[in-house]
Amino acid sequence: MKNILNAHYLRLIAGWIAALAVGWAVLWLLNKYTPPQHNPFAALDLSDPIGMATYRKFTNLKHDREACFAALDETGIEYTPIPDRQTSENCGFQNALTLGRSMTPYSATLSMTCIQTAALYTWEVKVVRPAAEEILGSEVARMETYGAFSCRTIAGSRRWSQHSRANAVDISGFRLKDGRLIDVKTHWGNGGPEGEFLKRVRDGACRVFSVTLGPEYNAAHADHFHLDMGRGDVCR
Ligand SMILES: [Zn+2]
Repeated sequence: MKNILNAHYLRLIAGWIAALAVGWAVLWLLNKYTPPQHNPFAALDLSDPIGMATYRKFTNLKHDREACFAALDETGIEYTPIPDRQTSENCGFQNALTLGRSMTPYSATLSMTCIQTAALYTWEVKVVRPAAEEILGSEVARMETYGAFSCRTIAGSRRWSQHSRANAVDISGFRLKDGRLIDVKTHWGNGGPEGEFLKRVRDGACRVFSVTLGPEYNAAHADHFHLDMGRGDVCR
């Protein structure tokens, strides 16, 4: 009787070990062969295409200052880190920087958190620039912005904006190398290539940022896209 029981338990243990080995092998294969942009366990590399894990990797770096700045350092953009600061009761920032030079110039100096900068860089390089060349046949010479850090509530609301945490940026338009200005207020939904371009970059922003608000959201956003890395989840 005792021998039968021992044999039974040995088979059970062997079965568990086999199941664990198979499970481990499956995870190892998944990790090895999943493209990095879809693999949440791969380190963030801003040269990767946008994938299913991109947004998750940005948010994972929210409190990992070193890894976030290391990812930015790989891109060639220039920035000056800003010490963490509480500027008033409801405003301030952590892991922030002032952008010196990105791949495309911006019309104003932007001070933002590191993950907001990583997201903005990704959108600029992987979405905006290719869309301009494909749809409008010109490169983007300058991104028109209303700014990033600003100690204020959301327009028409008493809630504090992600701008008050340096975690948001407003983009109003795109100056092209051929001189054209594609701006949200004039060209959104115009049925031409300008409208198609704006729709493409809005949709692309939704894959990168937590919150993307434009003219379809409300009248306060009729002339710009609001892009932020707060806790929300809105794409309109
Ligand atoms: Zn905004």
